[in-house]
Amino acid sequence: MKQTAIITGSSKGIGAATAILFAQKGYNVVINYNNSYESASLLCRSLVNNGFSVTTQKANVANRLEAEMLIKETLYKFGSIDVLVNNAGVAFEGLITDTDEIDFDRIIDINLKGTFNCCKAATKVMVNQKSGKIINVSSMWGQVGAACEVAYSASKAGVIGLTKALAKELAPSGITVNAVAPGIIETNMNSNLSIEELAEFVETVPLGRMGSAEEIAQTIYFLASENADYITGQVIGVNGGYVI
Ligand code: NAP
Repeated sequence: MKQTAIITGSSKGIGAATAILFAQKGYNVVINYNNSYESASLLCRSLVNNGFSVTTQKANVANRLEAEMLIKETLYKFGSIDVLVNNAGVAFEGLITDTDEIDFDRIIDINLKGTFNCCKAATKVMVNQKSGKIINVSSMWGQVGAACEVAYSASKAGVIGLTKALAKELAPSGITVNAVAPGIIETNMNSNLSIEELAEFVETVPLGRMGSAEEIAQTIYFLASENADYITGQVIGVNGGYVI
């Protein structure tokens, strides 16, 4: 039977690259979006037109009921959930003194609680199956912290803690849980940075460039594959050597 992967936040960026890769590798793929209906539909249509098994599902992962619906609808459509990629995320830059409670709550709600909501709903299915792979997208800022990104760094550090704890909890059920911690990747998320700011950052990356969404997708795919069956609770940095 074909395996099924849910990629949260796959209307664009890293999520979209991951959805394309999993579709090409033969998975049923659920493209989840919240606001970007157009880009999610466009991506889905182009993959379906090429013969791949792909569908879209709107869900704000920060909302428990919508996250549960995402899992339920996927199970209804495809009959199993073999891979869950918690990729949906938002960034926020600002001094802590300029970070309002509402900003902090929004970042934590989407990046951390969204991951919790989807993991919790999918776990019920995966435990019954006695198999499953969960891959959470953290960030190198969750490992080392970024100035002026307190909320974002805290949310991504939380994702790492959640990953490690859940890996221990679910290992006896044959489920692995890992995290990918990207460095600076060429997506919309960094579109607020000027060319000069990006060039300045790239100078500090040992491999001398930004990463691509496809490179993150390949790492996620590896963690979902049987080549990673003995890997759980790990954080894989894909950051050009920025964090070693
Ligand atoms: P992006 O291009 O801005 O894409 C973000 C995705 O998340 C979009 O598809 C967006 O969907 C979705 N999303 C946001 N809020 C959501 C919600 N409440 N519910 C469901 N989906 C939601 O960013 P990206 O660079 O690909 O980022 C993907 C992940 O990688 C994020 O978790 C990010 O923190 C992490 N990351 C990125 C970088 C980087 O440099 N780009 C570095 C480290 C980690 P809609 O537009 O439909 O809302």
